[in-house]
Amino acid sequence: MVKVYTIASGKGGTGKTTVSVNLGTMLAQLGKETCLMDADIGMANVGLILGMQDVPVTLHEVLAGTAVVSDATYSGPAGLKVIPSGISLQGFQQADPEKIRDVMGELVKKFEFLLIDAPAGISRDGVVPLAVADEVILVVNPELSSIVDALKTKILTEVVGGHVLGCIINRVDQEKTDVITKKMEKVLGVPVIGIIPEDSNTRRASSAKVPIVIKYPSSPASLAIKRIAADLAGVE
Ligand code: ADP
Ligand code: MG
Repeated sequence: MVKVYTIASGKGGTGKTTVSVNLGTMLAQLGKETCLMDADIGMANVGLILGMQDVPVTLHEVLAGTAVVSDATYSGPAGLKVIPSGISLQGFQQADPEKIRDVMGELVKKFEFLLIDAPAGISRDGVVPLAVADEVILVVNPELSSIVDALKTKILTEVVGGHVLGCIINRVDQEKTDVITKKMEKVLGVPVIGIIPEDSNTRRASSAKVPIVIKYPSSPASLAIKRIAADLAGVE
């Protein structure tokens, strides 16, 4: 059975794309048939950080009804399958986010894990990924605005019939881990399923267009993401 996880946040820039790409890569490396779909159709970044920005067909065309999903599916790191979105404004305008439901119908037959990189905010294109997932994972930074926006996304998820598995706290100062975990669980009311430290190799890896878990496998952020992936995959 496929497991569909949407990686969401509320606030922009918390690390959703970084987490999606690296979690997907790790699940693939663990031998799981995994697909990552970039549902951030307005501000698509998955293709950019994987060096797939020039692919001929993207999720935009699929959501516009002019291509099928297999044409927009590419091989990424460690065998991860990637469905990037396009970066043109016109492509975004022609894409119908509701069609994500049909795309999912196709993908669930083929994969064990489907990760959906969601947009920030609470627009229509952001709501569909929250509703279609088996579980939503919130990526939150240890600052008030990020926590408040994540709470809003949690409530929205429940309103549209989705379920939040928990949150990943990203860009944490390692000395403050205990305090921030307790605070987050209290305010958000969901378990903390992972803590990723602030790690300058994250940006370096993304400039090199290689996931940090491959480029710097022993870096603190990589180790944290590997732990989360192993938990999701149910391996030691
Ligand atoms: P989002 O998809 O939520 O907008 P991104 O994944 O694009 O966020 O990350 C935003 C920025 O933060 C990127 O420049 C990324 O390299 C950086 N970043 C993400 N996680 C970390 C981390 N743990 N340590 C340092 N920088 C990070
Ligand atoms: Mg993003």
